[in-house]
Amino acid sequence: MSPLDLLDLDELLGDEERDVRSLVRRVVDDRVRPHIAEWYERGEVPVRELSLEFGKLGLLGMHLEGYGCAGASAVQYGLACMELEAADSGVRSLVSVQGSLAMYAIWRYGSEEQKQRWLPGMAAGELIGCFGLTEPDHGSDPGNMATRARRDGDGWVLHGGKMWITNAPVADVAVVWARADEGVVGFAVPTDTPGFSVREVKMKLSLRASATGEITLDDVRLPESARLPQARGLKAPLSCLTEARFGIIWGSLGAARDCLETAIAYATSREQFGRPIAGFQLTQAKLADMALELQKGYLLALHLGRRSDAAGLRPEQVSVGKLNNVREAIRIARECRTILGANGISGEYPVLRHANNLESVLTYEGTSEVHQLVIGQKLTGLNAFGG
Ligand SMILES: Cc1cc2nc3c(=O)[nH]c(=O)nc-3n(C[C@H](O)[C@H](O)[C@H](O)COP(=O)(O)OP(=O)(O)OC[C@H]3O[C@@H](n4cnc5c(N)ncnc54)[C@H](O)[C@@H]3O)c2cc1C
Repeated sequence: MSPLDLLDLDELLGDEERDVRSLVRRVVDDRVRPHIAEWYERGEVPVRELSLEFGKLGLLGMHLEGYGCAGASAVQYGLACMELEAADSGVRSLVSVQGSLAMYAIWRYGSEEQKQRWLPGMAAGELIGCFGLTEPDHGSDPGNMATRARRDGDGWVLHGGKMWITNAPVADVAVVWARADEGVVGFAVPTDTPGFSVREVKMKLSLRASATGEITLDDVRLPESARLPQARGLKAPLSCLTEARFGIIWGSLGAARDCLETAIAYATSREQFGRPIAGFQLTQAKLADMALELQKGYLLALHLGRRSDAAGLRPEQVSVGKLNNVREAIRIARECRTILGANGISGEYPVLRHANNLESVLTYEGTSEVHQLVIGQKLTGLNAFGG
């Protein structure tokens, strides 16, 4: 049991849940932790190798049923996200985008033929998926997307572009959302379709161990069979985001936990003024406050996980979890950085890497402000999004 578990929250987990956590932790310790600082520095990550590894463990589309997916509970999926993100948010993003965005979109809105074609290979990690909603000029407001889908004989032509798309540079299939005469429609686009191209986004100072791309759709011709037949309107992609946000509620706590464990180990061995810095009251106050937030965030994640397994979650409930846990996680990461002093800025320690990663996590899948607006609308009945 972790010394950070002040409230014995571990007792709230069942044996199977603890087993999932231990398994993912072991694989992450073995396959990710020894290399992550170097991947981050180089801005490269072996997505294919990791996907195959995670596929073997059943982590891809883990919470989905059928088509080679593990059919795990929401809590098990959450625990897996937590362990993955304790290593790096980029690695958890790979799994979230594959499972909760690309696979979920096909699983929920695709035809039987699309499911058979893509899902088993994606669950095994042999095929990689991405999810293109954001555009250069439309982020928080995807309803105003500029990418167009127009009917062309029996098929479709897609024109436009998507920006900041995780996994895009290595993807075999891209779930792409576009505006048609009948509203927002989605497609499962094989990435070797003529007119589809990806430029890798470089010079990122956050989520460097994650492949991010800009997709150009230059009159991409697709058959009707590529359209996701059950997806009607913007609520389809938004429902996928709700899925992915659930993983973030747990994952962000993993990053924070890793920072706090690092800070405690550092503070107990680092001496200044003739004693360990952990012995100073100011340091202990920081550690105590951070441990509190970590435990509270965990209780929130567990509550939402249990609720999701029992009855499903409403979007504003997911917003409560994402807003709180990412906001607290980034505060914890930054506070831990201060405890490590100058060493805190070094890649030899994971803390600033986590803090920098969490800047992306704070922004993607709905910025903090967007989640405040979702909650505000629920509280007041008034839409403050504008438009
Ligand atoms: C590393 C990374 C990976 C990503 N991966 C993906 C992916 O795989 N697929 C995908 O589709 N997208 C992805 N995204 C994009 C992400 O979802 C968007 O960046 C996010 O939705 C915010 O959009 P934006 O960056 O255009 O910011 P904007 O929408 O331009 O927002 C800028 C600021 O304005 C605020 N703001 C906007 N509207 C309002 C309002 N009404 N009221 C108050 N404040 C407001 C925002 O909260 C924010 O603070 C990724 C982003 C990053 C950084």
